[in-house]
Amino acid sequence: MSLDPLQIRPDFPILQRKSASGAPLAFLDNAASAQRPQVVIDAISDCYQRYYANVHRGIHTLSEESTAAYEAARETTREFIGARSHAEVVFAAGTTAAINTVAHSWGGENLAADDVVLLTIAEHHANIVPWHQLAERIGCRVEFLPLRDDFTIDDAVVQAKLDSLRPKLFSFASCSNVLGTNFPVAKWTGMAHAAGATVLVDAAQGAPHQAIDVQHWDADFVVFSGHKLCGPTGIGVLYGKETLLDAMPPFLGGGGMIDRVTTTGFSPTGLPEKFEAGTPPITEAIGLAAAMRYLQSVGMDNIQAHEHVLCQAADAALREIEGVEILGPTPDRKAGIVSFTVDGIHAHDIAQWLDTRGVAVRAGHHCAMPLHESVGKTASTRASFYLYNTLEEVDRLVQAVKEARDKFM
Ligand code: PLP
Repeated sequence: MSLDPLQIRPDFPILQRKSASGAPLAFLDNAASAQRPQVVIDAISDCYQRYYANVHRGIHTLSEESTAAYEAARETTREFIGARSHAEVVFAAGTTAAINTVAHSWGGENLAADDVVLLTIAEHHANIVPWHQLAERIGCRVEFLPLRDDFTIDDAVVQAKLDSLRPKLFSFASCSNVLGTNFPVAKWTGMAHAAGATVLVDAAQGAPHQAIDVQHWDADFVVFSGHKLCGPTGIGVLYGKETLLDAMPPFLGGGGMIDRVTTTGFSPTGLPEKFEAGTPPITEAIGLAAAMRYLQSVGMDNIQAHEHVLCQAADAALREIEGVEILGPTPDRKAGIVSFTVDGIHAHDIAQWLDTRGVAVRAGHHCAMPLHESVGKTASTRASFYLYNTLEEVDRLVQAVKEARDKFM
C-alpha cells in the first residue's frame, strides 16, 4: 500500500472511540459522510475563536479577515478541481443544492417541453428528483441509460441514446454511490458534446477519492459535497463554465447576489456571488479548504490506490461467502464501495448485526431506488472505504457478515 492508514488514523479523533457495543469502531460508511481530521476541526474553531464575522459587507477588521479567508477557500477549491477562474467556483449547500440550482436556473432557461434530460439508472435521487420536478414544471422528459449485467454501462448504448434522443442535457455520476462503478467522464462528455448536449457531472463520490481536473473532464457543470471529503456539512461546490454560469439567471434571491435593488426590480451582481444569496457558509468554506489541503498532503493518488486495495480485499472475500451477491463490477472498474445482499437476510438485519461488532455500514436503498429496482432488489448493505480504513477492518467486516449469515439462516 502506498499509504499507511495507521499513520493517518491519529489525525481523526473520532476514530479512537468505540461503538455502543464496546467494540472498536470500524467506520465503513464513508460514502454517506466521511469523518473529519483535527486540522479541519481546528480551522473551524480557529475562525469562530479569532476572526469570525459576516463576509463581503463589513468595513471592519473581523469582516475583512473572514472575507479574505472565505475567498482564499474559494481559491483552494479552484486549485483542487483545476478550474480556470474563481468565477467558476460557486459555494452551494451541497451536491443536492448544486444540482437543484442547475435544474432551476440553467434548466428553466434552456429546456422546453419535450426536451430530453438523459441520466443513468445508477443516479442518486439528488440527480433524478430535480429533473422530475423540472419535467413537472415545463414538460421536459427524463430518460435513463440501463446497466449491463456487469453493473457498467455500454458506451455504445450511451452513443445510441445520444443519437436517438438528442438530449439537451446529459447528467451522470462520475461514480455510483451504490455500485461504486466509475464511469468514463471525459469520454462520455466528449460524446455528449459532439451530440449537442450540455453535461453535468455529479462528482459526490468522485471528488473525495481521486484527483479531479474539470478542464480534463470538460464537463459544463461539476458538483460535489464537502462532507464526503472530510469537510463540514452544509457546503458543496457548483463548478460551471464561466460562459454558462454568466448566462444563467440567479436561482435564490436576496442579499449578496445583487448589484442594485429598487422598488420595481433588481439587477444581479457578477459571478460567483450571483449564485450565493444570503449569508454564505463561511466557516464551512474555511473548513472545506482545510480538508482539501489535508487530502492533498496525503495525496489523492495515494488515497485512490489505498481504497482500491481495500475494495479488492473486501470484494474478493465477500464473494466467497455463500449467499452473498455483490452489486457492482469487479474492483478494477469501481471505487472503494462494496454493496451486497445476503440471500434470505434483510440488509437492515445485516447492518444491525455488524454494528454489534463495531462495523458501521449503511443499509437500504441508499437514495437510489430506480437503481435497486433495475437490479431486482429493494435494499442492499454497503461498505465504503476511505483513507483511514485498514485491511484489518475489512477482515472484521467479512467475519461479521459470516457470523450474520450463520445467525440468521
Ligand atoms: N450524488 C451522489 C452520487 C451521492 O452519493 C450523494 C450523497 O450520498 C448525493 C448526490 C447527495 O449529496 P448531498 O446529500 O451531500 O447533497
